[in-house]
Amino acid sequence: MIKLSHIEKTYDSPSGPVKALRGIDLTIGRGEIYGIIGLSGAGKSTLVRCINMLERPTAGQVFVDGREMTALTPAELREARKSIGMIFQHFNLLSSATVYDNVAFPLKLAGMSAGDIRQRVEPLLKLVGLEAKAHQYPSQLSGGQKQRVGIARALASEPKVLLCDEATSALDPQTTKAILDLIRDINQKLRLTVVVITHEMQVIKEICDKVAVIDKGVIAEQGPVLEVFTNP
Ligand code: ADP
Ligand code: ADP
Repeated sequence: MIKLSHIEKTYDSPSGPVKALRGIDLTIGRGEIYGIIGLSGAGKSTLVRCINMLERPTAGQVFVDGREMTALTPAELREARKSIGMIFQHFNLLSSATVYDNVAFPLKLAGMSAGDIRQRVEPLLKLVGLEAKAHQYPSQLSGGQKQRVGIARALASEPKVLLCDEATSALDPQTTKAILDLIRDINQKLRLTVVVITHEMQVIKEICDKVAVIDKGVIAEQGPVLEVFTNP
């Protein structure tokens, strides 16, 4: 479903070039929950942003669902991005929009009619357990509820891939568990491929099938979670 081939990313900065990724090869199968773990600054966020091309790799190829993302025109890329949803550590919700309108936002941007939007949004709010909160604003919600809105919004364009960038790092352990359970539930119900970026081992152990350990822009180790984390 996702294939990264020899990905390199170098940022220009005032103090000179920063090599964030130095040759990443990674294959993620359809329906897998794949974890990417590493210390702060290891390159995790750059890696996940190369999958949806929020960052353009300096070298290498990115394939998602059979399409070479690195070869698309800007218009083709906008279309292809609809197959990739993303959730964030700090939720990135619109504070002046209700729960309903936050989830509807990407569909409005895509020009969908109000009736079609309603048919898409209502089941999503139900799926994440927020049907009673549709008309509340983000400031009225707990952290876990805000991330449920983020998840519903990410699913609005019916993606095949869900990218989670430190999605539970701002949540307490109990809420983290509930959100991870929801992500696994969605992975199974919608047969969605999920990529989980985290610095927390517990998150990987809780829901991931496979894991890649990233260190200074290279993959130090990868494989099934049980194999990678039971080495002496
Ligand atoms: P992680 O997500 O693992 O914390 P990042 O991908 O955010 O790592 O960062 C990897 C490296 O790239 C770090 O050295 C970071 O400082 C650098 N970096 C990230 N984004 C930028 C940017 N926009 N400009 C310059 N350097 C950056
Ligand atoms: P948690 O214990 O999960 O962090 P909170 O204590 O923040 O949750 O909220 C508990 C309940 O109260 C939630 O259902 C939330 O939506 C509701 N709530 C919190 N703040 C407000 C508010 N300012 N106005 C209306 N409802 C609120």
